[in-house]
Amino acid sequence: MRGPMKLINSNSGEMECRICGSQYWACIRPGGGYHPCSWQCPNGKCSTNRRQWYAARQRFVKPNWRALL
Ligand SMILES: [Zn+2]
Repeated sequence: MRGPMKLINSNSGEMECRICGSQYWACIRPGGGYHPCSWQCPNGKCSTNRRQWYAARQRFVKPNWRALL
């Protein structure tokens, strides 16, 4: 799994966030398959998008969505 989104309808490409539960349609590439952004939650208020300062690496990081489940 590449992100918090899970496919709930492979025919329509409908996806649901495991963390906040928001649903949307995946961006499907013209040649078929899902765009990498499809696996990231589009909800800006979702906790998977909350960046935190990670002092050890001196940069902002997104939380590991697996840890939020
Ligand atoms: Zn979400």
